Amino acid sequence: MSQEKLLIIEDEINLQNALKYYFEQENYAVDIAQDGELGLSKARGIKPSIIILDLMLPKLDGLEFCRIFRKESDTPIIMLTAKGSETDKVLGLEMGADDYLVKPFAMRELLARVRALLRRKSNKTTNNLGNLISENLKIDLNSHITTLDGENIDLSPKEFLLLKFLIINKGKALSRNAILDEIWGKNYIGDSRTVDVHIRWIRKKINSITERIRTIRGVGYRFEK
Ligand code: CA
Repeated sequence: MSQEKLLIIEDEINLQNALKYYFEQENYAVDIAQDGELGLSKARGIKPSIIILDLMLPKLDGLEFCRIFRKESDTPIIMLTAKGSETDKVLGLEMGADDYLVKPFAMRELLARVRALLRRKSNKTTNNLGNLISENLKIDLNSHITTLDGENIDLSPKEFLLLKFLIINKGKALSRNAILDEIWGKNYIGDSRTVDVHIRWIRKKINSITERIRTIRGVGYRFEK
């Protein structure tokens, strides 16, 4: 079995070493970066299977890292932070982290989350290829390119998946939880506000579909037929 590549972006040397040692014992190929900038260039270069990302980092912090890297890749990210505040958690998840762990944490807990995210990633099927078309909006499932009247729309990987899920289920009301399960996975610990934020972003980027994505009070969203 080939090794999964793990990139750890963490500036605390002790924790960095402990993580590296632990995950190497678990047969991961581990790479380290001690600041956000180096982390970003390594993430681009090595193309890791998964990233463990500290929130507070020199040069480029964890949130900025997520903001930039999420536009380029949907590699799973687990964010680590010393703070347990709700705001940090929500921010991290809104910026595109897939999971979140508050320091201090048990290594086994982190390992379980890493495995869960990798499992989810490998379960994602890409068989259903082709185009999804809704009036002037076209989603190319092969290239992940979304166009409106032929013009490219710059969607993040999560926004793309969310829009795709809505259109596949056109005419059906989808609950926020159903959307979370589908796009973020059942092990996702964040709350449904994440869905609202992503819907808001999609509406902002694709103005003319704002009314096609209907908010269903107390339920979630529906893409109109
Ligand atoms: Ca730190």
